[in-house]
Amino acid sequence: MIAIVGGGLAGCLLACYLARRGEDVVLYERRADPRAAGAERGRSINLALSERGLDALRRVSLDNQVLAGALPMRGRMVHPVDGEPGLQPYSADGERAINSISRAALNNVLLDAADKTVRIEFGHRLSRLEPGSGQMWFDTPGGEVRAVADVVLGADGAGSAVRGQLLRAGATTESLDFLDYGYKELTIPARAGEFALDPGALHIWPRGRSMMIALPNPDRSFTATLFWPNSGTASFASLSSPAAVERYFAEHYPDVVPLIPGLVEDYQLNPVGLLGTVRCTSWHSGRAGLIGDAAHAIVPFYGQGANCAFEDVVVLDRCLSETGGDWTRALPLFEQSRRADTEAIARMALANFIEMRDKVASPVFRLGQRIEHTLERLLPGRYVSRYELVSFSTVPYAQVRRRVRGQHALLFSAGAAAVSGAAGAAVKLMRR
Ligand code: FAD
Repeated sequence: MIAIVGGGLAGCLLACYLARRGEDVVLYERRADPRAAGAERGRSINLALSERGLDALRRVSLDNQVLAGALPMRGRMVHPVDGEPGLQPYSADGERAINSISRAALNNVLLDAADKTVRIEFGHRLSRLEPGSGQMWFDTPGGEVRAVADVVLGADGAGSAVRGQLLRAGATTESLDFLDYGYKELTIPARAGEFALDPGALHIWPRGRSMMIALPNPDRSFTATLFWPNSGTASFASLSSPAAVERYFAEHYPDVVPLIPGLVEDYQLNPVGLLGTVRCTSWHSGRAGLIGDAAHAIVPFYGQGANCAFEDVVVLDRCLSETGGDWTRALPLFEQSRRADTEAIARMALANFIEMRDKVASPVFRLGQRIEHTLERLLPGRYVSRYELVSFSTVPYAQVRRRVRGQHALLFSAGAAAVSGAAGAAVKLMRR
């Protein structure tokens, strides 16, 4: 029997893939069934799903069902403090979109799919694991339950109990790098039954050291997320009184104030979430392995955590095929195949925070983006921006980093050639 611990995004999709291989799978989830009990508070309400996640869903024919509840966002709508918001398309043709989806709805589609082929035990919180023997202990509403599996896969998120047990057994080491930033969600309700902002874009209010973003929901509300410093001036710690919150929003987010009638209440009631990067070595020991955030949680600024976790499932499935279903070889091969890619997206996600909170507002950045889109049109398939490679392709993340470095070097040479009056030579150089 294969045990999957964690019935979140990666765990449910993994259950579907393993059931398809004919494995006998039991999925253990600490929560009660969210389809009956409703979503847990304090987790991000919606997320952006892009090609990597869709590709993984498509392989088990779940993409259309998921997309039916999603809203396409074709670019960033950047809101300055003064003046009108401006749209920055994600792709050269302005058509490609990332998809805003409710985390709860996505999880429910996956739970329904997993439920058809595997046994799901809700209300089972893993408390102890012996990686060598595959013995597991769960806290349940009815008391402690023990079970044993041939393979135990930890898909239990950034604070993984399975990873904790591997640590306890001395089988892995971990590093947790928390940012000095946190996040807090606010709701922009529908106005007279309509979206209060353009629902075809991801909205960003870049403010230098901090930012707010907003993604549309099918009920015509938006979920806005503040990414602010935890301490110091203009931080979650310093802005606590209703008057200070109102003053700060009026000064820095003036167009948002009329859109959130319950701003101060939302701000004061909603929790501040942690943001950080989790790394650990190794991802497996004995009969146990890690997948998704449990192995490599990242900061959310590229909108890739869930996409990457879904892509993990595709790669693990491939490793099982390559090893003839031999888990003792498949788990090390999975880590070997995936480690450089997960490290690459961890780094790109951190770098994208600076781009989103600061650079997108700059005219130089906008000019650079226009040049990139022009090159993409002139050199289709030869020049592809980092954003497109990350969000609209399944090119491995580590290759994306290498390719973009190469493209930037060429762009620099092309720019130098253009400055010396040889614009045609620039394109020729790029075509080589
Ligand atoms: P999770 O989704 O966290 O699932 C873990 C599951 O394990 C949960 O169901 C949990 O209840 C269960 N569990 C935990 N402990 C135990 C235990 N001891 N026993 C049994 N079960 C247990 N990603 C994107 O791709 N796009 C985005 O736009 C995006 N935006 C984000 C915004 C924010 C603010 C945050 C915080 C994250 C965002 N992410 C985004 C990242 C994404 O949410 C995660 O990468 C993704 O949820 C990881 O999936 P997972 O299945 O590995 O973990």
